Amino acid sequence: MKLNLSNYPLTDNHCHPFPLNREPVDFERNMCIGLYPVKSENMRNTLYFHMMINELRRFFNLEESVSIDEVIAIRNKNARENRDAYVKSLLQDAGYTRLLVDYGYPISQKTLTSAELDEFKSNVSEMDVKSINRIEWVANRLLLQELSFDKYDELLVTETKEMIKSQNLVALKSVIAYFTGLEVKILPMNEVRIGYYSYLADKSDRSYEKIIRDYTFMKACEICKELDIPLQVHVLIHGSYPYLEELGMILNHYDNLYADISSLVPYASIAAEDKLKKLFEMAPLNKVCFGTDGAGIPEHAWFGGVYFKRVLENFLNELIDKKYISYSFAEQTAKNILYDNVTKIYNL
Ligand SMILES: [Zn+2]
Repeated sequence: MKLNLSNYPLTDNHCHPFPLNREPVDFERNMCIGLYPVKSENMRNTLYFHMMINELRRFFNLEESVSIDEVIAIRNKNARENRDAYVKSLLQDAGYTRLLVDYGYPISQKTLTSAELDEFKSNVSEMDVKSINRIEWVANRLLLQELSFDKYDELLVTETKEMIKSQNLVALKSVIAYFTGLEVKILPMNEVRIGYYSYLADKSDRSYEKIIRDYTFMKACEICKELDIPLQVHVLIHGSYPYLEELGMILNHYDNLYADISSLVPYASIAAEDKLKKLFEMAPLNKVCFGTDGAGIPEHAWFGGVYFKRVLENFLNELIDKKYISYSFAEQTAKNILYDNVTKIYNL
């Protein structure tokens, strides 16, 4: 028996809104996940761009002879003139039923307007949408106020909890990796206090900033433990790309640690086809979730879902053929990664 995952329901464990007016004019520039402007010509020479174009040809029923520019023109017409129906049909094509959306996007903190949020909510109105937001946005707001340390400490907790409650968050997220890295150190309180005031006195000093970022991260852990919700850590989500073997090993060793493969799928193009095997070597497969980190344009989440189902299907069928695993374990694993693990991990 062969697995066929095309009709399985799908949850994106980590994605972002994609407001129309923030799309780069050149479609190909969306293929870069970096934060700096990139040349169109370079993006047109990525595998991801060509995989995306071919998948769009399938989606729009176009012959291979239809040029790249014509495909993009058809895509743009749909995405710009008929966005709501277009996004809905993309999500349906991939089999999505649920999205976990990080609203603390973009990193530049040019936060989305209410009109942009309304547009997104309409686009995904057929989905079960769950929200996630970042402790750093609370921390950054408080740090600007230059409060006493005790007041910062108090408000960080109360305002983060308030954000979780008022926005109905299913998880808190930390993007500490963007600021001072993941080598979080636990320091005695008097050192944190001194570090806090030193940072306020000189905000350009990264060593002082690291003290308060690390402390804020530890507070995020405490809040999540108390409220019994997961903490998404930027990098542990995203498959720790390119360190998939290491991620598999720590998932194997620590029961309360989970991962998704977002970002790696779809931005790293064919990486899913070999890097996932590295992750799956040791990772308990009831702890790995599908995700895309789709942002900017709706096609990332769509392409990621369609492509990943194919890769996972091939991989699991290969393991069945080799008689390494049973059909029933393969089927359960597919359901877990595509949907059920998120339900369990987030208590949905
Ligand atoms: Zn993200």
